[in-house]
Amino acid sequence: QQPIVIVGGGLAAGSAAKTLRQEGYDGPLTIIAAERREPYLRPPLSKEFLKGQEKEADLLVNPSGWYEKNDVDLRLGERAAQIIPGAHMLRLESEALVPYSKLLLATGAQPRALDVPGAQLEGVHSLRRLEDSLALREELAGGGRRVVIVGSGWIGLEVAAAAREYGNEVTVLGRHASVLRQLEGPLAEVFRRALESEGVQFRLPAHPVEFVAAADRECVAGTVLNTGERIGADLVLVAVGVEPDTALAEEARLRLRDGILTDASLRTSAEDIFAAGDVASSLQPRTGDHVRSEHWSNALNGGKVAAKAMLGADAQLDIAPYFYTDQAGLSMEYSGFGQLVRGAHLVLRGRIDTPEAAKEGFVALWVRDGAVVGGMNVNTPRQQKAIKALIASRAPVDEARLRDPAVPLPEL
Ligand code: FAD
Repeated sequence: QQPIVIVGGGLAAGSAAKTLRQEGYDGPLTIIAAERREPYLRPPLSKEFLKGQEKEADLLVNPSGWYEKNDVDLRLGERAAQIIPGAHMLRLESEALVPYSKLLLATGAQPRALDVPGAQLEGVHSLRRLEDSLALREELAGGGRRVVIVGSGWIGLEVAAAAREYGNEVTVLGRHASVLRQLEGPLAEVFRRALESEGVQFRLPAHPVEFVAAADRECVAGTVLNTGERIGADLVLVAVGVEPDTALAEEARLRLRDGILTDASLRTSAEDIFAAGDVASSLQPRTGDHVRSEHWSNALNGGKVAAKAMLGADAQLDIAPYFYTDQAGLSMEYSGFGQLVRGAHLVLRGRIDTPEAAKEGFVALWVRDGAVVGGMNVNTPRQQKAIKALIASRAPVDEARLRDPAVPLPEL
């Protein structure tokens, strides 16, 4: 019997392996993982772990020893170099050949690089791997440094908040007039103002055209912006998004469109090859379009669905994507179908006009065709369950009641 092979080593890979065993698959199972660490969770790398509040062991997808106990051949530090679909064979960078019965591509994504002079200087960081977070923490933890963050998305803002908590001087650059481009202006403002109230500075819209080296060392000392302004920097983080790691799939001529195209059961265009997590652009049964989601819930559920589908079960990816963040005194959770949310209108429960009011807690709901398609709860953790239930129910809602914080969400 040829093994089921998973290429990856992140959350999607770890989740798929666990589900395969849980579902009773007791045949050979191999994971080819480029990093030299057991599959781990990345969200804390810009949050609790960066702030030194979590240990490495807290990040593991499956507990230490799980792979051995469950007879999983976990090959750390090995990289798959080529898929030969006709032969159901994988070639590793070491030239070893690995046959597969079913193959799951869970290769994730890589940080997008900035094409500006000086981007290779020492002190210019990106953040994807545990080592990246450790290196950042080492530089930030002592405080008193000038930190420039390029990118005003979730990761940029989370690191800005953590860097500020450590007592550094922090400036965030963003390409747009508003931070967090995927959020409506007033909601994005809640996060910007909360960070500003903690002392984080913003340049919006602005981007670096050059990173400048120190006079005596190949190490970053500042950045020149497109506006002509120069900002001194001891450390720069580039957090301008990620690109799906589709190299293997591309070479094997799998169908791609912003990621590896899959059906709702995560099958790719090639026989017996599946894709899950950040690398997959998957058919969403509820909306009929393909979406590549860069969130841990998608990697977790995608791993489960792909595992079941590889075993021949009728599994589909059909729950609302979920996302959380913690920064500058705001604990936010979000659930929603992004494509539906885009055409929806916003209903607010609670006040967001000042950082203090927002920190008291509020809920934002997106309503489309009379039903809730997305929802965000900030500093109101108990509301998330009700939001998920509202989205799943597709039930018609009365907007006046929805807007009224005195009417509990479960009673809508
Ligand atoms: P990855 O975690 O990227 O894992 C892919 C693995 O495959 C990597 O280890 C890579 O080395 C390996 N690999 C690639 N190519 C090969 C090859 N050819 N051979 C062998 N191995 C290979 N999501 C949220 O929902 N909420 C958050 O708050 C949040 N915060 C985040 C903060 C940070 C700093 C980062 C980096 C991400 C965050 N995310 C968050 C996103 C979330 O972590 C990702 O969606 C998730 O990690 C995707 O998992 P994955 O298994 O698809 O891919």
